[in-house]
Amino acid sequence: MKDPSNSPELRRRLVESVVEVIRSHADELTALDQAIGDGDHGINMKRGFEAILAQVEALAASPLPEACKAAGTTLVMKVGGASGPLYGSLLTALGKALPAEPGLVEVVRAFDAGIQAVKRIGRSDVGQKTMLDVLVPVHDELVAPGPDLLGRVKRRAAEAAEATVPMKATKGRASFLGERSIGHLDPGARSSSLIVIAVCETLED
Ligand code: ADP
Ligand code: MG
Repeated sequence: MKDPSNSPELRRRLVESVVEVIRSHADELTALDQAIGDGDHGINMKRGFEAILAQVEALAASPLPEACKAAGTTLVMKVGGASGPLYGSLLTALGKALPAEPGLVEVVRAFDAGIQAVKRIGRSDVGQKTMLDVLVPVHDELVAPGPDLLGRVKRRAAEAAEATVPMKATKGRASFLGERSIGHLDPGARSSSLIVIAVCETLED
């Protein structure tokens, strides 16, 4: 993962792979949100990420920080649900924190800035059965030493999403259900894990 900013082709593949995984899982995300929310998470994510795909040429041609900021602005503008502003703020903060030619250390630091933006905008933290319950463990894995970083991050993302099942939601629409939110996978945790896994697989190629 050295110097991803210098490859328009990598930026294009990252956008395409994330949009593809959201498209192919939109029905699943909607079903998860039907169980503990209002059933629009798949539609919201698909709309937002297809709007990003429509800009893929411009995003591929832009430096990585600018591409992240532009994609974040698109999500904030195109997605009505909570997830649009939250993922949008994550991407915008990530873009603002990235130097023009980041290495792994800078990418991880910028990802942390993105997480802090989600916490700030969402007034939320880990343990509340949200996307943060995937994003924060993924960050923890990124800073942990050891081989096979991308493989570890993928496994951690999948495990962290599953770990939201027994949690009681205390943020977002699912919190309206109280105890009845227990026993369901959080839709935003699932979409976060799908995105993280798609990014890792693209970087592995
Ligand atoms: P909405 O809840 O407005 O219908 P979505 O269905 O698109 O929006 O997204 C729901 C997901 O957003 C939840 O599953 C959760 O992961 C995430 N989410 C909701 N509120 C917050 C928050 N305050 N902080 C972090 N994540 C949140
Ligand atoms: Mg919803």
